[in-house]
Amino acid sequence: MVKFYNSLTRAKEEVPSHEGNVVKMYSCGPTVYYYPHIGNFRAYLFMDNIRRVLKYNGYKLDGVMNITDVGHLTSDADEGEDKMLVASQREHKSPWEIAKYYTDVFMNDAKALNIDLPEHIVPATSVIEDMIKFVEKLIENGYAYETSKGIYFDIAKFKDYGKLSGMNINEKLAGARIDVDEEKHSPYDFVLWVKAPKEHIMQWQSPWGMGYPGWHIECSVIGDKFLGETIDIHTGGVDHKPVHHENEIAQSNCHYGHQVVKMWMHLEFLQVDGGKMSKSLGNIYTLKDLAEKGYSAEDFRYFYFMAHYSKQQNFTFDAIEMAKNTLKSIKNLTKEHKNGTAVVDTISYEKEFLDCINDDLNMPKAIACVLRMLKEERSKDVYQTMMQFNQVLGLNLEEIEDDIPEEIKTLCEKRWQAKKNKDFATADSLRQEISNLGFEVKDTREGYNIIKK
Ligand code: AMP
Ligand code: ZN
Repeated sequence: MVKFYNSLTRAKEEVPSHEGNVVKMYSCGPTVYYYPHIGNFRAYLFMDNIRRVLKYNGYKLDGVMNITDVGHLTSDADEGEDKMLVASQREHKSPWEIAKYYTDVFMNDAKALNIDLPEHIVPATSVIEDMIKFVEKLIENGYAYETSKGIYFDIAKFKDYGKLSGMNINEKLAGARIDVDEEKHSPYDFVLWVKAPKEHIMQWQSPWGMGYPGWHIECSVIGDKFLGETIDIHTGGVDHKPVHHENEIAQSNCHYGHQVVKMWMHLEFLQVDGGKMSKSLGNIYTLKDLAEKGYSAEDFRYFYFMAHYSKQQNFTFDAIEMAKNTLKSIKNLTKEHKNGTAVVDTISYEKEFLDCINDDLNMPKAIACVLRMLKEERSKDVYQTMMQFNQVLGLNLEEIEDDIPEEIKTLCEKRWQAKKNKDFATADSLRQEISNLGFEVKDTREGYNIIKK
């Protein structure tokens, strides 16, 4: 049985699902206004982890992730500047160009990390019509009201407001500063639809004049459109709990008149050198920054497994170095097992690995089990079990480089070209040269492998 920690009920629970073992899962996606950093990718590796573990257990996934390309202000509440506008001004590009560029960056990085992406990836701007209908229904049912600035959700109408993050809204209201917007019924009412000033860069026709959506509405609407009125799992970073997810719950539950998301799962933050990533400290790293320092996307993928998602994880260059080295030795050992001849009963490892991943994604423990198994006498049984575990790990275990020097790689490539050109004499002499330098080249169906002798 797969059990995950549900942040809403504060308990580990069996994973909910729909008919046919289908898990409907929603993940809050990136705001595409800048380069995503490794903290953001911890959130998507978390999503990947859930998806792969569920698939390993025989579930089918129906997953959705939004792409925020409109409406997200620099504060998660309704304050600050529009992030897309800030980027447009910074780069002298239209918001559409900004969104396209950073969506591509995100997708390329996600691919490099071998993230198992959801079945539907939906930009917020593609569902504006649906958002308008959704907001209209909330107004009709008395959950939202209009002011001169936009349409607001009336949180007093939703008794469970604050339940997810454990905040007592009445206490909070008592201590709240007087909101500058006197038209709002409560300072915590949040915007669903903003009436746009003429010069605003992104705006659409609506029953309330030209405008654009508030940030939170996209997730309720995309979830509704692609997954329907009950969603099994909803994921996001812990920063989303107190505002974005409270608002999503309020909108969605009031829209349907019942609870929409059964299980909420939250990921703790990635820290750098024991503190928050920040521009002023110059410690916001992207995958490209890591590559420049000699660490691959896959090294970072392995680094993710070293801590439990519910704990903060501290990024340091010592830690990623350790991840890189352990990953290298996992690959080498896997290769040795591939050629092994011993007989090893791997059933106890299979059971232990499954118990770990099904116990709220205990990856550090699952990895410890993997490392122990790899110490067994070299055996094809271990290799096969490793390949099975790799459905969850998603590592490129077949690509083993063995620290092959560039010089050798170039010689091997030359030999391969010579062979393709049927110049076997040159190919043979290059093979000899490679051998004299301590390496062996073995042809395979797809190409060749280089092995250190
Ligand atoms: P954003 O693009 O800002 O909407 O954030 C995308 C995702 O990254 C959200 O799920 C955030 O919760 C998550 N996130 C942002 N910073 C971090 C961090 N330092 N560690 C882990 N997750 C983060
Ligand atoms: Zn969201």
